[in-house]
Amino acid sequence: MSTYKIAVMEGDGIGPEIVAETVKVLQAAQRKVDGLKLELAELPVGLAAYERYGSTLPSSTVEALKTCDGGILGPVTTHVYNVHDESMVNPSGKLRTELDLYANLRPARNFPGVNTRFENVDMLIVRENTEGMYADRNLHEGNGEFMPDPDTVVSLRVVSRRKSERLARVGFELARARRKSVAVVHKKNVLRRGCGLFVDCCSMVAEEYPDVAVSDFHVDAFAMFMVQHPEKFDVIVTTNMFGDILSDLAAGLVGGLGLAPGLNLGDRFLLAQATHGSAPDIAGKNIANPIAEILSVQMMLEMLGIRNKDGRALEAAGRIKTAVEKTLEQGVRTPDLGGTATTSEFGDVVASHV
Ligand code: ATP
Repeated sequence: MSTYKIAVMEGDGIGPEIVAETVKVLQAAQRKVDGLKLELAELPVGLAAYERYGSTLPSSTVEALKTCDGGILGPVTTHVYNVHDESMVNPSGKLRTELDLYANLRPARNFPGVNTRFENVDMLIVRENTEGMYADRNLHEGNGEFMPDPDTVVSLRVVSRRKSERLARVGFELARARRKSVAVVHKKNVLRRGCGLFVDCCSMVAEEYPDVAVSDFHVDAFAMFMVQHPEKFDVIVTTNMFGDILSDLAAGLVGGLGLAPGLNLGDRFLLAQATHGSAPDIAGKNIANPIAEILSVQMMLEMLGIRNKDGRALEAAGRIKTAVEKTLEQGVRTPDLGGTATTSEFGDVVASHV
């Protein structure tokens, strides 16, 4: 028996709609794979949790997560959270530091049946997830943004050797199982110390992987190369904010945010979370594309399978991947991809293919 305890956190905006379809697909995979047991535990986060428990990330949620193998997190509408209210933390950012989910894996590839301007795209952005420019998570205590006077803001960026090295190792390890090529993306011509340290750490780790080709790029030029020749890139290792921006660009190359999954990876916990935000403009209409969230869970199962040498988790991941592709191939699509399927219809078809 392969048993995994998985937390389910709906989040805000379109979160409840896409997470419901993801759970539907996950349960279909569980039914199909003999000996795979997924214990799903719903945990409150986001605006609904604030209404009910007075916090967007109740401490009971964090404690419960520490007993889980993985979790599914819907997007959160942090831009409406009151910055002066300490109970309105960004659950996504806080969980990344609290559970030390240090690498954010964001793949972008072409899908069958989705027409795009680019072909043969298959890249994986490996983004640092716990420091960098993100003020809410880059200090042990306090916030990395402060106002010396009402017209001035100072923002701190943190880059550390330990976190850069362990991130690079994830990137090189994953590249070994792919096309054996890593692009390190930075801005060390200007951010000489921060990006300089990051690049040095990546170069040091690269020596342990002589079979993996390594190159490095300034982030601004790299944005151009990604659009000119996206098919050339395999694994991209970069700092937090550059990775956040480049992963949306990558999603745009292959059909949009609805197709952009993500996995937050720690040594003891995995958190599946689509790259996109909570899309308040389409929330509650049953038209959001659930693919990104579904494929985030697929990535989680695959990683559980690899780490635990568990063929059942790998089989479930494989079934979900193929089911999404079959659904797109047969022309079932949500409106963001030019189709007419609702979120729940799309989830039904994927689940039936699983
Ligand atoms: P955040 O900063 O929280 O990531 P964002 O500013 O990147 O948020 P999103 O919420 O991701 O914004 O939405 C950007 C656009 O993409 C919106 O028009 C939204 O409707 C669309 N979008 C995002 N996710 C999906 C989805 N799953 N299905 C369809 N459209 C989506």
